[in-house]
Amino acid sequence: MNSTEQKLLQAVDNLAEDMIAFSARLVAEPSTLGNEASALQVMEDELTRLGWSPQRVEIDPQALAAHPGFAPVPWDYEGRHNVVAVRPADGESGKSALFNGHLDVVSPEPLGRWDRDPYEPLIKDGWLYGRGAGDMKAGVAAMTYALKAVEAAGFGLAAPVTIEAVIEEECSGNGALACRAAGFDAEAVLIPEPFGPTILTSQVGVCWFKVSLGGVPKHVLETHSGVNAIEKCYVLIAALRELEAELNAQPHPAFGINPHPANFNLGIISGGDWPSTVPAMAEFHCRQGFMPGTEFSEIEARIEGTIARAAAADPWLADNPPVVEFYGFRSQGHQVPPDLPAFALLSQCQQDLAGEPAGIFESTATTDLRSFVHYGRGQATCFGPVAESIHAENERVNIDSVIHTARAYALFLARWCGLLE
Ligand SMILES: [Zn+2]
Repeated sequence: MNSTEQKLLQAVDNLAEDMIAFSARLVAEPSTLGNEASALQVMEDELTRLGWSPQRVEIDPQALAAHPGFAPVPWDYEGRHNVVAVRPADGESGKSALFNGHLDVVSPEPLGRWDRDPYEPLIKDGWLYGRGAGDMKAGVAAMTYALKAVEAAGFGLAAPVTIEAVIEEECSGNGALACRAAGFDAEAVLIPEPFGPTILTSQVGVCWFKVSLGGVPKHVLETHSGVNAIEKCYVLIAALRELEAELNAQPHPAFGINPHPANFNLGIISGGDWPSTVPAMAEFHCRQGFMPGTEFSEIEARIEGTIARAAAADPWLADNPPVVEFYGFRSQGHQVPPDLPAFALLSQCQQDLAGEPAGIFESTATTDLRSFVHYGRGQATCFGPVAESIHAENERVNIDSVIHTARAYALFLARWCGLLE
């Protein structure tokens, strides 16, 4: 690295304390689904304070309804939006970049498993604790301060850089999709999801659905003449497990030696209302992964067919068929070459900072990369901090890794967009 780059990295280090404080302020906002407003406000205020002009990007379900990537959801978008700032270029010779991160977090329940309030950020022994610390508010802070460091070091950039903070990464991808539909894009896209200093080259598709069915309620005096709606779910869940095995039967080149990338999860189940009444209704919600190259419509048809066949084989369900509804995620998977120019450059930045190139990551979950790979124009990947216990209790992110992410992003900006001294 030359002295210019050394100066830039020094600027990142000088801002590290502010960056971690900003991460903690974001963690303190409980931005679960529908409750993202205060975290978005913290983001907007910070972007303004740092000297950029944030815009709100609305998610208009009517306008997006015809978009092939739009996921219908049962909730509304009133008062909910994304926050985007574009830092204009100081020259004309470079290539544009976009950093994307999500501010929504998953529920911290069950709270009893946490050592402390999940929204009271704590810094201890080099880790920042709290719901969303790893997934992915510290990453959002790192990407924001990487750009700030360029300015703080007194440099300009020869191409524009976009900072994009979105909602609904954890359930639909509609936040990032709305930003694509609004025209925000760039030639390289980095997302600091907490998968460590690796280059994500493939991810599975993900689909959510709900199955509901009815039974016949009875007093337990005559249990035998009722139909237990909850127990009828077992039949359908067993069939879905068979479908999962089929979806993983053939190895897929996007996932190397991983024998089981397309995971099924039974995430929610509910039904009945009394221990001594045969339950008259039940429903369960599932997530099914699927391989890159499979369209959502194909997986939708496979799931519907699986449920229909299992129901047809059961005398009660044959006459009272379960209802399958698809909502939330309907994200295709993808696989991109590991040697795209932006990836090679990022890996070189990692090499120069850490002494070894970035590893490759093949993800069995989805991310907002989907909206960039399928509906954008850039070379897009994830590269971010190291976190533990994401989506679980006592989530934490390693602070040195957050600073490292910011250093790598700053170096990437300098080399990709072109640093102007
Ligand atoms: Zn995430």
